[in-house]
Amino acid sequence: MNNPALQTITVALGQRSYPVWIGSGLLADHARWRAMLRGRHALVISNTTVAPLYLPCIEAGLDGLKWSSFLLDDGEAHKSFANVGRALEALGQLGATRDACVIALGGGVVGDLAGFSAACWMRGIDFIQMPTTLLAMVDSSVGGKTGVNLPVGKNLAGAFHQPRAVIADIDTLATLPEREYHAGLAEVIKGAAIGDEPFFVWLEQHADALAARDPAAVLEAIARKVRYKAGVVARDETEQGKRALLNLGHTFGHALETAGHYTTLLHGEGVAIGMRLAAQLSERLGMSVAADTSRLQRLLEKLGLPTAIPPGMEAQQLLALMRLDKKNTAGVLRLILWRGIGRAEIVAGVAEADVLAVLQAATG
Ligand code: NAD
Ligand code: MG
Repeated sequence: MNNPALQTITVALGQRSYPVWIGSGLLADHARWRAMLRGRHALVISNTTVAPLYLPCIEAGLDGLKWSSFLLDDGEAHKSFANVGRALEALGQLGATRDACVIALGGGVVGDLAGFSAACWMRGIDFIQMPTTLLAMVDSSVGGKTGVNLPVGKNLAGAFHQPRAVIADIDTLATLPEREYHAGLAEVIKGAAIGDEPFFVWLEQHADALAARDPAAVLEAIARKVRYKAGVVARDETEQGKRALLNLGHTFGHALETAGHYTTLLHGEGVAIGMRLAAQLSERLGMSVAADTSRLQRLLEKLGLPTAIPPGMEAQQLLALMRLDKKNTAGVLRLILWRGIGRAEIVAGVAEADVLAVLQAATG
């Protein structure tokens, strides 16, 4: 295995700018991340799967601090308000002051909950993201969206709270289950499909290396996606405009995830199918051509992702779920579509008949 080099990407947000470090051996590079901690207290938030694997890698880096850990049980169901309360209690037990730091060691579930807990404690303290899934490295750890699920819906309680640093140690991906790895690749492909055609071409050329988890290719793919997302976030931190483009495939995807009761499909899998449906809808509306849809579909499939709607899901049911999307306003469907690879657009007022036709063809 070749040892890929370190990449550093800055998320440029004025005083709240921060580095994203991507590379090998970073969790054990204590001096690098310890320098980002300002105070004497740290709370490590992780889960029962990740902590046994990777907490030992960082423990010695916390020497001299007053610190403790709070571990969630594994799974999306534990990204809950009740666990935010427990995290805040743990900060209280530590006697954490305003210069304390929360360290999120895990996937997106841990990162979202830890970031939100940090946003709440004393109205906002530092936190550091140490993402351990591909999805968290390329998506959830960057951009400052934090939050938890409520019984009425996913991610409904939250805050924008940027981390002080992101430490993406690609060595942690060695233990990541295959399906989770592929789901993360969907969010990589998404970035390229939205706004970076050269990256899309690069992905097509390196699909075999990525499928084989070649470390140099994985590192480069993460860095390119993070660079793309960092640029979008720097221009539109709180999603007043073009940050919404990052939702390509997500309105379809969320409907598919919900229809599968969040057990049939991983988020990235829903997004993969959703991107293909968005491409087909764009084609139907005369915005793009069939060749673009085919290229997208080929790349998704080469990288181990589904592109077909699972059996048993119905077009009308999916459309009904799409009506509930947060992006809609006053009963008008608002979707992210594209004019071909690297050229996504926000389109309001898409006719339901067109959406239904695409869904019917795909469930037929
Ligand atoms: P996850 O955090 O549930 O992790 C997936 C699984 O992998 C879990 O079982 C976890 O325990 C395990 N795992 C994590 N790292 C591992 C490792 N290195 N080795 C072995 N197993 C490991 O899921 P995810 O896909 O990382 O994140 C999904 C969450 O992220 C969702 O809650 C979603 O809402 C959120 N999200 C947030 C944003 C954002 O901008 N904040 C963006 C996208 C997704
Ligand atoms: Mg997503």
